[in-house]
Amino acid sequence: SSRSFDREIALLPNHLADQIAAGEVVERPASVVKELLENALDSGADHIEIYIEEGGEKRITVVDNGCGIRKEQMVLAVSRHATSKIANYEDLSAVSTLGFRGEALASISSVSRFTLTTCHYQDKHAWKLVGEGESGWQDIQPAAHPVGTCIEVCDLFFNTPARKKFLRTPRTEFSHIDELVKRVMLSRPDVSMKLVHNNSVVRQVQAVEDLSALKVRLKHLMGAPFVEQCFDMDFEAQDIRLSGWVGYPTFNRAQTDMQYLFVNGRIVRDRLLSHAVKQAYADVLYHGRHPAYLLFVEIPFEMVDVNVHPAKYEVRFANGRWVYDFLRRSVREIVTKPVGVGNAPGKALNV
Ligand code: ADP
Ligand code: MG
Repeated sequence: SSRSFDREIALLPNHLADQIAAGEVVERPASVVKELLENALDSGADHIEIYIEEGGEKRITVVDNGCGIRKEQMVLAVSRHATSKIANYEDLSAVSTLGFRGEALASISSVSRFTLTTCHYQDKHAWKLVGEGESGWQDIQPAAHPVGTCIEVCDLFFNTPARKKFLRTPRTEFSHIDELVKRVMLSRPDVSMKLVHNNSVVRQVQAVEDLSALKVRLKHLMGAPFVEQCFDMDFEAQDIRLSGWVGYPTFNRAQTDMQYLFVNGRIVRDRLLSHAVKQAYADVLYHGRHPAYLLFVEIPFEMVDVNVHPAKYEVRFANGRWVYDFLRRSVREIVTKPVGVGNAPGKALNV
């Protein structure tokens, strides 16, 4: 009977609401690493270290040398809907930081054993905040740490067994982390970074100051064959800039595994943009083969809506059609030129 549908309505306890929100943002260890790296970059860090144990299932530690968090703000930092990055609707319509939802730390800490150690640049020493899922937060204690922040996430999903079941082997989880870190390393040549798995250094890149250093970094991340067989490009029209590297048509792949696109420094998986690049290569690539590229789109913040997807992988452009055409035309102009002829734009990187 309809009576069985008559249940009391009650507000969810905070920790349960956080765990539900975590379902959207924290899919696997790599999503934790993504959120922590975004926070580190938003804090102005130019050196970030990432330590992973057992594919991140046991421990994920991200250490940065950014601005740190004031002691009085530490509890807020781990609370849901608390952010320093936007304050009103106008801010939301022109987000310039990687984060803005104020949810990541609350979500992550609700499904892990979590430690935040941080030293604000104006504080005399560091402080430490420890929490374990729904058991709540312990008192903040003094700690030793240079200016910056260290976040340690242990035993991910220890209190949400249904989610833990979906974790794959540490090797698979680590491969997702490695790919993510690689993308962040590609997106921010100005930041030095180190990735360590089970005590061995997997990737390490230095901040780049000149073209030859950039080339070294690109070789490490994209492989020497790509760096030796790509055009560099830099186009600007109206407010939009498209720069980066596109592989020679002869350097093509069976998969779409070497396609990297960033919008205002943000990693995106955007079908519109990747389709535009695919179309640009249409006349010069065999059917079924895929181009390799590393492209950066810079566009005024108010022209792109980043609040489309909880993990922020998707974006929406105010003038999508125009962006699409600009990408397709620009890339096409470069990749349909014969290699090595006259002013072929590959020269900056290839000599
Ligand atoms: P969001 O990044 O969307 O603001 P988070 O939950 O990821 O939400 O972080 C909450 C707040 O904590 C941030 O707005 C920021 O002020 C602070 N914070 C988080 N991580 C760091 C960090 N590594 N360095 C400095 N501040 C941080
Ligand atoms: Mg964040």
